[in-house]
Amino acid sequence: MRTAEIRRRFLAHFEAHGHIVVPSAPLPFDDPNLLFVNAGMVQFVPYFIGQQAAPWQRATSVQKCIRTQDIEEVGKTTRHGTFFQMNGNFSFGDYFKLDAIKLAWELSTKPIADGGFGLDPERIWPTVYLDDDEAFSIWRDVIGVPVERIVRRGKEDNTWDMGIPGPAGTCSELFYDRGPEYGPEGGPAVDEDRFMEFWNLVFMQYERGASTGPHKGDYEILGDLPSKNIDTGMGLERMATLLQGVDNLYEIDETRPILERAATLTGKRYGEHSGHAATQSHPDDVRLRVIADHVRTALMLIGDGVTPSNEGRGYVLRRILRRAIRSMRLLGWADRALPELLPVARDCMSESYPELATNFERIAMIAYSEEDTFRRTLESGTTIFENAVGAIKRDNGAVLPGEQAFKLHDTYGFPVDLTLEMAGEQGLSVDVEGFHRLMTEQRERAKADARANKSGHGNSPAYRQLRDLGETVFIGYTDLSGESAVR
Ligand code: ATP
Ligand code: MG
Ligand code: MG
Ligand code: MG
Repeated sequence: MRTAEIRRRFLAHFEAHGHIVVPSAPLPFDDPNLLFVNAGMVQFVPYFIGQQAAPWQRATSVQKCIRTQDIEEVGKTTRHGTFFQMNGNFSFGDYFKLDAIKLAWELSTKPIADGGFGLDPERIWPTVYLDDDEAFSIWRDVIGVPVERIVRRGKEDNTWDMGIPGPAGTCSELFYDRGPEYGPEGGPAVDEDRFMEFWNLVFMQYERGASTGPHKGDYEILGDLPSKNIDTGMGLERMATLLQGVDNLYEIDETRPILERAATLTGKRYGEHSGHAATQSHPDDVRLRVIADHVRTALMLIGDGVTPSNEGRGYVLRRILRRAIRSMRLLGWADRALPELLPVARDCMSESYPELATNFERIAMIAYSEEDTFRRTLESGTTIFENAVGAIKRDNGAVLPGEQAFKLHDTYGFPVDLTLEMAGEQGLSVDVEGFHRLMTEQRERAKADARANKSGHGNSPAYRQLRDLGETVFIGYTDLSGESAVR
């Protein structure tokens, strides 16, 4: 079943059960703790906490999401995209646990011919929070799942919350057993690639307060929310992975064509050397998946108005674009990559997002000019980098000195994360502390020069240049996780 059809069926199911279809919020999100929307419920928080009256009692949506904390997983697990779509149904003080579970079960297991997803009920493993006997009994007594397949899990997996203060609750999740070729027996607690989580049902009923510990779910509960609510999230790409019978998220109809195009350009035969389990992946295949994920993510981000820059959202986009381009290079494609790949991504996505086709000229211009800038950076710095690496290796060294990283940054515009990544590929680490020390020294010098300038000594162009440099305080090359405070 095509992804666009899964989306349609989901919305139709919940519409038939009295839910109003609400459009996706745009990806950028104005919150100090969250760069991008990362779940379907984000746009509904004011209703959950009672700050605003919900205009409807039941809603359903397909929300565009970005999770930067999953970037490092992309291509390595079978189930994490940087961009993904979360299908959700929401109850604002209307139904609670019983109907949330029944509605999700019905759609998941109803035969395909009758408008459902036709999953085999005997392969679904529900989880509940440790002491949630109510949800446990619903699964056992109302749905009829054998107790061996109902798993109790702790805070890390079975709680959800958003913002401080904000709504919170325990949850119940649905996992699907993809079979022994994906991993060992034993349920979701043993292997989450074989037992793939596809739907999370959150029972939003508390107001969370300050954190009380380092782990997810460690927080003070301030009290009950004005009403008991439901917030669910079904991974659209995960359902597509299951229903299309493919190995992983990057092989579904919305991403596979990008991956294939990248494979054709680089002369790689995708999947040739890989087994089913994520751990059996060949590095070339991981790169091809990263490319497919990142090109699609960049398309969606630019489509929602993000442009490349050196901080915040724009920096996430820049890094994603650059990683896609570099991955193509590492696979042997030295020409411009995005003009070959971005139109493929557009064709994959424009059935569900027609505005991507309408706005494509603008989107492409932004992406292609970023690639041109990056190509110039690489051209000027790569030889210097390679010479430095050669010298270190000849001396049996393992660390690229901070001075080199600084020079690459200062003279050739190499962001330090690029140096880190390229050094890592050569088996070297980087003296990051040394790099930052030199950056600080440079800023201090520039400040001193600016003072000298004020006192009338330094108005030459050289001084001005230094001063301008000093004001470019760079933040964020090493920290992508602007939203880690929340999720
Ligand atoms: P996982 O444990 O697999 O990382 P999660 O528990 O972090 O997933 P939730 O926060 O419960 O995910 O999000 C609700 C649903 O959204 C998940 O059940 C899954 O189907 C989907 N989902 C979450 N993260 C991703 C992702 N990075 N890519 C694709 N789908 C995702
Ligand atoms: Mg996760
Ligand atoms: Mg999970
Ligand atoms: Mg989950």
